[in-house]
Amino acid sequence: MAGRVAVVGSSNIDLVMKMPRLPRVGETVTDATFVQAFGGKGANQAVGAARAGGEVVFVGCVGDDAYGAQVRGSLAADGIDTRFVFAEAGVASGTALILVGGGGENYISVAPGANYRLTPAHVDRARDALAWAAVIVTQCEIPTETLDHVISLGAELGKPVLLNLAPARKLSEASIAKLAFLAVNETEAEFLTGRKVATDRDVEASAAALLAMGPKTVVLTLGARGAYVAGDAVRGLVPGFAVEAVDTTAAGDVHCGALAVALVEGRPLLEAVRFANAAAALSATKLGAQPSAPFRKDVEALLSR
Ligand code: ADP
Repeated sequence: MAGRVAVVGSSNIDLVMKMPRLPRVGETVTDATFVQAFGGKGANQAVGAARAGGEVVFVGCVGDDAYGAQVRGSLAADGIDTRFVFAEAGVASGTALILVGGGGENYISVAPGANYRLTPAHVDRARDALAWAAVIVTQCEIPTETLDHVISLGAELGKPVLLNLAPARKLSEASIAKLAFLAVNETEAEFLTGRKVATDRDVEASAAALLAMGPKTVVLTLGARGAYVAGDAVRGLVPGFAVEAVDTTAAGDVHCGALAVALVEGRPLLEAVRFANAAAALSATKLGAQPSAPFRKDVEALLSR
């Protein structure tokens, strides 16, 4: 049976303009190419989990606009249960406007829109979905009070919660202490601990400091290097996979989604992180957020190489 994963969080429409160079303030550049794609950390994690082989339900808010329907349709096309994707009246779906210049440099502006309308009451309406799941995954593009509520409800239901503290945000000590898994990259770790993460020793010290905040397990992702894991019984670096990276957008999101699937399938922690490293490495070889999330057969092919 596929691992059951509930993802509570954000979804965005990414409106991307690719252009030979970025405009200066007040300037118009007219020879751009337009691409629309689906993103938002929550939706990226859900798609990452579904393609990694999970049975996934997504809980989130979209606007009652055309984009909202597209987000729902796109999630459903990946086999994700969208019964708890709420359409809120009078608000736009989450939108990211992205300008990319010839060298890959960018301007990004995000309007959270409906993502910030996801309330604790919505989460309560999705209680059955959280009770059904074997793990609950969430991140920080929804209101803090909603995040706190997801973590509390997970604890009440006896479900492990995996929080990806991205983008970094101040969260109560009580919420962090209730987590089964805290997943962060180097910047987010530094935000939480105030310690730089550069050397191997920094990595160990940072993970130890994060673990002292109370989560059962810490997963510190280190880009191409892989991820460092710290828990009660295990501690160590799980090396990344050498790939030709073209765009690491959503690598962290795919890592979380795939990690959740591997964990609920009962893989031991280090093996689950290796699976997540493989999925995330593959996602770095393709452009875009959700378009880059790999399918399980490709993850398994990389793992067995
Ligand atoms: P984020 O995308 O949140 O900043 P990281 O950059 O740490 O997080 O990437 C998350 C995971 O994606 C890493 O732990 C690693 O497994 C994988 N990854 C990221 N960049 C690369 C890369 N260049 N080559 C291989 N794997 C990568």
